[in-house]
Amino acid sequence: MTTSSSSSWDVIIAGGGPAGFFAAIRCAELNQRLRVLIIEKSSQTLSKVLVSGGGRCNVTHACFDPAQLITFYPRGGRELRGAFSRFQPRDTVEWFEARGETLKTESDGRMFPVTDSSATIADCLRGAAKKAGVMTMLGTKLLAVEKSPRGGFRLNVRNEAQESFIKTNRLVIATGSDSQTRAIVESLGHSVEEPVPSLFTFNVRDPRIDGLAGVAVENVTLTMGALTQRGPLLITHWGLSGPAVLRLSAWGARQLFATKYRSPLTVNWLGDLGLERTLEVLQRNKDWHENARRKVGAQPAFTQIPIRLWKQLTQFVGDKNWADISKQELRRLASELSEGEFKIDGKGQFKEEFVTCGGVRLDEVDFKTMQSRRVDGLFFAGEVLDIDGVTGGFNFQSAWTTGWLAGTALSQKLSNP
Ligand SMILES: Cc1cc2nc3c(=O)[nH]c(=O)nc-3n(C[C@H](O)[C@H](O)[C@H](O)COP(=O)(O)OP(=O)(O)OC[C@H]3O[C@@H](n4cnc5c(N)ncnc54)[C@H](O)[C@@H]3O)c2cc1C
Repeated sequence: MTTSSSSSWDVIIAGGGPAGFFAAIRCAELNQRLRVLIIEKSSQTLSKVLVSGGGRCNVTHACFDPAQLITFYPRGGRELRGAFSRFQPRDTVEWFEARGETLKTESDGRMFPVTDSSATIADCLRGAAKKAGVMTMLGTKLLAVEKSPRGGFRLNVRNEAQESFIKTNRLVIATGSDSQTRAIVESLGHSVEEPVPSLFTFNVRDPRIDGLAGVAVENVTLTMGALTQRGPLLITHWGLSGPAVLRLSAWGARQLFATKYRSPLTVNWLGDLGLERTLEVLQRNKDWHENARRKVGAQPAFTQIPIRLWKQLTQFVGDKNWADISKQELRRLASELSEGEFKIDGKGQFKEEFVTCGGVRLDEVDFKTMQSRRVDGLFFAGEVLDIDGVTGGFNFQSAWTTGWLAGTALSQKLSNP
């Protein structure tokens, strides 16, 4: 991609990630007279896109109702409501389609390129930027920003150990979750919510799940304090993972950070079957004459529980025949199945998607334009904001939407001053 060392620009976007690219492309496509530059600190743009979704890039989610879409954002949902009415997953699909990149939907709603390759998404973005005349400076890190007395900004940047200044009329900060951006944002009068990880797996050491790595249960209910999530669960070597766990980690990100990732966790292995209903089913199993001489651990009483897990959950009565277990044992078994108590003791990394919550406070940004409410001409897009979604393509979608809105506003503002 083109690089340039000219030192005065109409628009500079700090950060060559998906949000920065969407802002730059949209702005340059709408107003070709504008000189638009992306500065990127590393040696390549779109690094996270390339590694995303296990190398396949989960671009967005097939959820086309903005009211429903916002329920997938533990932070930022309220602010994104209006933004999604302007640019939502359907628009993302059309945007890529119009540039030759077709997306497909998987059974759980996640959308990927038909190529199953994140490189084609990165190529598509780079190609669109180049076509629109966007310039890129690689290896160029934004160090500090000064507001110019007559409007615009003077940026202090470092490129190959050399520091220099670049001027711009408008600035978009799209540096993702980079921790060093905080000082820059605060120096411009903005406040930042403490960044903490979101989307992680739970470390749980417990004999009931020991040796069961790879065992999955289709529909469990997890409860942690006031938070509840339902969905598939996967047992791993270190504890628990799967969509229900990842979603709970996102909603409980701050709470778990505060407790150093230690917390009680209740698992209902039977989805939404309550204790009394579970007891009834177990009682029927006990009363069934053909079961009388069968061992409890021999076969799951509930089809959704895999046999290996059933054996471990029923260990304390597994060797007894159904006819021989007491009322108390039956109740304990029901409790084990529908309200099993576990302890989270640490967090693991979810390798397919890693996100932080925290960032620029949302009430300081106008979500119609993504412009700062504090500094004229300053815009924010993407993960630098205190927005994060659960796993499934929602994080990229907020980057596309906020980038697109910023790009739209930048072009209008500059073309009609
Ligand atoms: C392994 C992994 C897999 C993921 N998979 C998915 C997925 O499949 N679906 C999904 O929706 N989300 C996924 N995510 C989350 C998604 O990647 C992010 O939400 C998204 O990239 C945020 O976009 P952004 O443009 O705001 O920030 P980023 O993608 O982080 O881009 C910011 C850019 O700014 C640059 N930068 C930072 N500081 C400076 C500076 N001072 N000066 C100049 N440049 C700077 C960075 O080098 C970077 O290139 C994944 C994340 C990871 C880590």
